[in-house]
Amino acid sequence: MRIVDNIPGALDRRTRAEDPAFREAVAAIVARVRAGGWGALVAESERIDHAPPRLVEVAPFAAQARASYPAATLAAVELAHCNVTSFHTGTRPRDAAVETMPGLTVAKEWRAIDRVGLYVPGSNAPLFSTLLMLAIPALVAGVSEIIVVTPPRPDGGLDPAIALAAELCGIPAIWTVGGAQAIAALAFGAGEIAPVAKIAGPGNKWVAAAKALVAATPGGPAIDLPAGPSELLVIADASADPATVAADLLSQAEHDPDAEVVLIATDAALAEAVLREVDRQLADIPAAVPAMAAAKAVVATLDAAVALANAWASEHLSLAVADPDALVPRIRNAGAIFVGHGVAESFGDYLAGSSHVLPTGGAARAYGGVTVLSFMKEVSVLRATSAASRAVAGPAAALARLEGLEAHARAAEMRA
Ligand SMILES: [Zn+2]
Repeated sequence: MRIVDNIPGALDRRTRAEDPAFREAVAAIVARVRAGGWGALVAESERIDHAPPRLVEVAPFAAQARASYPAATLAAVELAHCNVTSFHTGTRPRDAAVETMPGLTVAKEWRAIDRVGLYVPGSNAPLFSTLLMLAIPALVAGVSEIIVVTPPRPDGGLDPAIALAAELCGIPAIWTVGGAQAIAALAFGAGEIAPVAKIAGPGNKWVAAAKALVAATPGGPAIDLPAGPSELLVIADASADPATVAADLLSQAEHDPDAEVVLIATDAALAEAVLREVDRQLADIPAAVPAMAAAKAVVATLDAAVALANAWASEHLSLAVADPDALVPRIRNAGAIFVGHGVAESFGDYLAGSSHVLPTGGAARAYGGVTVLSFMKEVSVLRATSAASRAVAGPAAALARLEGLEAHARAAEMRA
């Protein structure tokens, strides 16, 4: 981590070169699975992951988890399941109806998406938490069919923690298939994998590129968010404990080598103290923290920090300041805000309740994270009494004629 003098430059995200050959490789995998169905999916999975896709029952692996994990670990997974469920249940949208004119009523009714696909990354860390963060809002939304995919493991089984999370969510089996080929199968169907209306979940660059590709295909599924490397921005003032701020920065730099970690400190002494703490903690942390070397710190006033935070639109924003509640209403753009010294970013990753699938790369300017709404859509329902129908027929016809649409005008006038 280093202190940067060029304040606007400190917030430049690391750019990743667009590689046309990579995009073509993704498009080729997707096209082969789309055209060739199950046979092509098997061939691509064997070529890339050296394993055919399999639908694996979660029960034996969840039993392994229950038999081998300490009681406190099992209780923690159940606590996370409970908190995430109560948050999403409490934020389920309500239907609403408005009588726009006497007798003319327009309702907004929420409906769950029928079938969704959830991508749970495999990689080095078993991201069972991602399964909870996707499946629970989908279940609370009322999605009737949830297809979970995760990359295959060399032993052909499931990670016990992922299986335990699935079992808690009532998901009986998981497809072990990953990468762009899994996204193509979810999008267009392959064998017993039926095509879904929406795909959610983070993944590596192959998964992200395939999601963007299938979402842009006519008739293809919707996707949740543009997913990229994880981010944390910490705004800290003199009231912050340098060791705690350093621990939060390290926790987010642990995610992957491309994670973006930035500290905005209100004075230079604090920035330097945090840097020393980062070095001290790095020396005895057993895990790799691959993104910490590229992390940056800048010194700015609190007002400038708020402006920078809004411009950067961080996935995670920690307010390690004396009066964080005064800053919250001034934050326009962030995926999740962690208010005050007592709220670790890790709480949001695991068990506070909100989903940890959040917008990255500045997308928080226009997107929120995954919620119950991500798995629902609204239907407008229009009703009119016969008096209201007669009353609006004339104005509706007038508007139609203003656009030169005579057939519309006549259809309206039939109700007069
Ligand atoms: Zn994190």
